[in-house]
Amino acid sequence: MKKILFASSETHPLIKTGGLADVAGSLPIALAELGQDIRVIMPNYQGIKNCEPGRYLCTVRVNNSDIHLLETRLPNSEVVVWLVDYPPFFNFPGNPYHDENGKPWPNIGDRFALFCRIVVEVAMNRAYLDWQPDVVHCNDWQTGLVPALLSLEENRPASIFTIHNMAYQGIFPASAYTPLNLPGQLWHQDGLEYHGMLSFIKGGLQFADRITTVSPTYAQEIQTPEFGYGLEGLLAYRHDILSGIINGIDTSIWNPADDVYLNHHYSAENLSGKLQNKLELQEKLGLPINADIPLFGLIGRLVEQKGIDLLLSCLPEMTTLPLQFVLLGSGDKSIELKLEDFARLYPDKIAITIGYNEPLAHQIEAGADIFLMPSRFEPCGLNQMYSQRYGTLPIIRKTGGLADTVVDSLPDSMTNGTASGIVFNDPVPAALLEAIKRSLVLFAHKPTWQKIQLSAMTKDFSWQNSASQYLELYSQI
Ligand code: ADP
Repeated sequence: MKKILFASSETHPLIKTGGLADVAGSLPIALAELGQDIRVIMPNYQGIKNCEPGRYLCTVRVNNSDIHLLETRLPNSEVVVWLVDYPPFFNFPGNPYHDENGKPWPNIGDRFALFCRIVVEVAMNRAYLDWQPDVVHCNDWQTGLVPALLSLEENRPASIFTIHNMAYQGIFPASAYTPLNLPGQLWHQDGLEYHGMLSFIKGGLQFADRITTVSPTYAQEIQTPEFGYGLEGLLAYRHDILSGIINGIDTSIWNPADDVYLNHHYSAENLSGKLQNKLELQEKLGLPINADIPLFGLIGRLVEQKGIDLLLSCLPEMTTLPLQFVLLGSGDKSIELKLEDFARLYPDKIAITIGYNEPLAHQIEAGADIFLMPSRFEPCGLNQMYSQRYGTLPIIRKTGGLADTVVDSLPDSMTNGTASGIVFNDPVPAALLEAIKRSLVLFAHKPTWQKIQLSAMTKDFSWQNSASQYLELYSQI
């Protein structure tokens, strides 16, 4: 049995902005089920919900301040969560990275530097908890200073750094270094310095004992300039200790057979409820109720990464095709406005919902026939896995975790029963449009479509598989 300290800036269902929270809320539970002694550590944000109030655990002294750790649990599990309670940094409305108006916290560097220091104090058993981890598992730039600070300690636990998205690196001006009270010996090119600036993520990439990312294809891609954002050289240099492990999905939340947000449950054995969900979704979103018309769905952050610009270029032609399209998301304001304009022009074809809405996300996954994920890059991606489980065949661009989890419907894969979606290569509108048209042809031939649905719905995306791979990695270090 390993003792593992799992550090994350967000954890579902306590607080979530994206896929990292899903991982932090699921992987620790799967590891605990494999018999590991795991504790999650995260900041005690004002917005934390869905858990018992944290009870006082201990006090840690950092930067001349006394900082309390509170203890709670992940709901429906025995996994302990330690909350770093420092109200001057974390007791504000908003999310871990932005205030209520979507503005990045001006002191975000101070916040996560403090968080990293506390993680190190706990990891070195200086919080007097009588518990010292064998492994500290860090996630994304917010925890990047942990492996760097640990590298200065004797008898330290091993560290793993997982990259969920290379596009976010935690870069600050050099002038931030001294106020953050960081040790001088880490300020060099093979340390936290990055072209004269302070880089949190470099702390993880330079000093962790193992680096992982969330899919094998993304592990290769980030060693190239297009996806490495300037750190491809360092990643290629450390390729021996870099690997990719696909995220699982939480099959207790994402299961069409007992999804709490659906009025009609269904399974691979009996798909009839899926059609009921489709009709209900059409009614709810004000689209003509029509069982036969292919219904396309998209859920996600409306940012360039997700290929929404490709979709916007395709929309004029999509409105001439026999289909309906529903989208749920929020993000870039100009994208939101353009999408809403289309929905106003084509109310019989397009329904746009701006915002974050978990029930509707489930209803779209269940009610749509085809799911769009034309991402320019996608470290792992979750919605393409949910979609397959819900028999909503995904159209994906061949990148990152999308490439690793969806099998294109081609003659060979359809014959051997592995086909599970539609794949296109180039991030250009014509390629997406061609894939959309290909999906319409497949959809029109019901026996073929149902065969692909069946193979998609019976694929194993559970966490057990990924957790075993992480465990294997922990045992190597
Ligand atoms: P990323 O982490 O890059 O945002 P992922 O596909 O890995 O993308 O994970 C996104 C998660 O957030 C999924 O669980 C998805 O369903 C959810 N999500 C994204 N946008 C919304 C939204 N507007 N409403 C509800 N859920 C959303």
